[in-house]
Amino acid sequence: MSTPAQGPFDVAIIGGGIIGAGIARDLSLRGARVALVEKGDLGGGTTSGSTRLIHGGLRYLEMLDFALVRMDLREREILLRIAPHLIKPLEFRIPFVGQSAWFRTKMRIGLMLYDALSYDRSLPGHRFLDNAETTADEPALTTKNLNGAGSYYDAQVRLPERLCLENLIDAARHGATVQNYTEVIAANKNNGKVESLNIRNLETGEESTLHAKVFINATGAWFDRVQQLLGNTPSRRIRTTKGIHLTCAPMVQKANVLFSPLDGRLFFVIPLLGKTWIGTTDTDFPDDPTQVRAEADDIEYLLKSVEPFFPNIRKLPIYSTNAGVRALVRQDGSESSVSRMHKIEETLPNMFSVLGGKITGYRAIAEEAANAAATRLGITAPCRTATELLPGGGQAPDNHFGALYGSRAPEVEALAAAHGPIGAQARFAARYEFCRHLDDFLLRRTEYAFAHDLGASIAREALDALSDEFQWNDARRESEWATYRRAANRAHTDLPIECPLPG
Ligand SMILES: Cc1cc2nc3c(=O)[nH]c(=O)nc-3n(C[C@H](O)[C@H](O)[C@H](O)COP(=O)(O)OP(=O)(O)OC[C@H]3O[C@@H](n4cnc5c(N)ncnc54)[C@H](O)[C@@H]3O)c2cc1C
Repeated sequence: MSTPAQGPFDVAIIGGGIIGAGIARDLSLRGARVALVEKGDLGGGTTSGSTRLIHGGLRYLEMLDFALVRMDLREREILLRIAPHLIKPLEFRIPFVGQSAWFRTKMRIGLMLYDALSYDRSLPGHRFLDNAETTADEPALTTKNLNGAGSYYDAQVRLPERLCLENLIDAARHGATVQNYTEVIAANKNNGKVESLNIRNLETGEESTLHAKVFINATGAWFDRVQQLLGNTPSRRIRTTKGIHLTCAPMVQKANVLFSPLDGRLFFVIPLLGKTWIGTTDTDFPDDPTQVRAEADDIEYLLKSVEPFFPNIRKLPIYSTNAGVRALVRQDGSESSVSRMHKIEETLPNMFSVLGGKITGYRAIAEEAANAAATRLGITAPCRTATELLPGGGQAPDNHFGALYGSRAPEVEALAAAHGPIGAQARFAARYEFCRHLDDFLLRRTEYAFAHDLGASIAREALDALSDEFQWNDARRESEWATYRRAANRAHTDLPIECPLPG
């Protein structure tokens, strides 16, 4: 489904993470001719390294970032409506373990404020639980110094990669050209104004020029690098910080909001994709975001932080880790104190850039960026993304395919009759979901890579189906397998566990 760029385009977007994808959808729905290029796979950047929460963020209340919390709570409601198959409500618990009466009072005020800021919510409001209620649902939680818990609701996106993808599928349905594995390498300017981009197809090595009337840089944590590349001057507009997660055997039933005894930072212990996810950390990371990974220190920090609440944590096997790099609008101070509010600026003449942001607010951020581009283009059609369902957002069957593809599930089921479930999914991904490689399929089109065996039980079948679709020879099959094995194995860095995938 990857189509070569042909112009002329109204807008060219750099970066196929959730923000670029949201902008592509928004502008395509307004009738603009859009091209989007992504150097890796769609959603393979920070979008896949997140904690996967769709939340206002209780933590940002403490930073008095009311505008951000309100925006994200409003967006949470919109996402629950337009992508109900991908975004699900989730109960959060703040267990009070040994904290002072003042801490509990602060949490009470915080939860009241959180409810007040989500006045248009469909989810239940907050409440307080006694010890018996708290441990009934969360038997692994310590009872030592336990003083009940606060409870409130937010939401979770199991696969933000698919949220990103569905935005791009809809953009393509409305005429957008979407190219993954295509890198922007330079800008061509006239009187300082960006007129076109030089792009390189990383699979064929072929270079070409992408002409458009307006450009948008949505490269997130890569922003400064790309800006420097295109503007020929150093850029230090964003502060990049690393966050990691580790996953272990299922331990919790609810999403637990905990405060690290090491430094007071808020972090989560949540049920996700059949495991318990613990994270995240927040440490400056000035290196190439592509190289981010969990190190032994990060893992130890999380284990030490969890131990007082879930004393058995070290007895559970750790399955994997993942990591991402946040792009925050540059500010001094501690990493955690930097605002998560985004900014949209014309960082080069004729190129708007998105700095910062969260997955939760992606649609609103995209709307703001699309407004800027539409004004420049003279497009007056209004934004429709708050009400138009994403492609799978309609009535979905209540089964595995329904949970993944939503109302598009019958299309996959139809293929399954001839090819079996894995063959059908792989063919569907190759034909209709911009899937180019085995790791795209296992890591970002489906959730097989998140299984305990990293998808080992089905990966060969998927490889066969993709080989059929793309006419891969033996050498290509081997290199696809090796790339997936490396990608999956990387998640195990520094952990004393074996990669379950055969060599
Ligand atoms: C640890 C962690 C936890 C988080 N948890 C949450 C959470 O629970 N909830 C939430 O709402 N938000 C969360 N976030 C924030 C959220 O993940 C990000 O704000 C969001 O994913 C950023 O999306 P993006 O599109 O800006 O960036 P990305 O997803 O990184 O996309 C940018 C893309 O640009 C591409 N690119 C770079 N250079 C080029 C080039 N030269 N040519 C072409 N393409 C290029 C990259 O390959 C990349 O795919 C978290 C972030 C981190 C790091």
